[in-house]
Amino acid sequence: MLVLRKPERKPEKTLVHICCAPDATYGIPAIGEVFGEVVGFFYNPNIHPEAEYLKRLEETRKLSRIYGFPLVEGAYDVARWMDAVKGLEEEPERGKRCRVCIELRMEKAMETAKKLGADAVTTVLTVSPKKLPTMVNEAGRRLAEEKGIIFIELDLKKKDGFKKSVELTKKLGIYRQNYCGCVYSFRE
Ligand code: SF4
Repeated sequence: MLVLRKPERKPEKTLVHICCAPDATYGIPAIGEVFGEVVGFFYNPNIHPEAEYLKRLEETRKLSRIYGFPLVEGAYDVARWMDAVKGLEEEPERGKRCRVCIELRMEKAMETAKKLGADAVTTVLTVSPKKLPTMVNEAGRRLAEEKGIIFIELDLKKKDGFKKSVELTKKLGIYRQNYCGCVYSFRE
């Protein structure tokens, strides 16, 4: 894990957005080791179909029991997500649709963190080599300024983070998906 920008102070409690259990196998303990108390937050209305969404959620619940971290579950707001990405259906992966998809999830994580009394937010999204850390961190930085919360800028895949997540996922018997999540990435 690489900390790309040190937060102005060490957070007391960090809400960690979890996109899927495989990324969290490495991300949750790595973030906890450096930043202290963490709470997981599963909010991914991008995932299609619903059966896949439920499978990824169940795997995240399983991981929270194995590791012993609290998990907050967001709503499966499919209509909200579809509305947000309207007109961006043909965008390639890592394009404008992904930016909107990431922003929507970061924004909800920050609103939830404030309700729960957490003073910082981050995400395990950057474990994946398919995600651009600049896209994730720019969105997080901008929204954090708006919401008045700390956003921890990371590149979790660095220092063997992705490799370690693959090994941990196998070791813990966690399901690993083979597409990012939305209906468009499913078709690709
Ligand atoms: S490819 Fe992944 S990040 Fe991009 S819009 Fe689809 S689910 Fe979101």
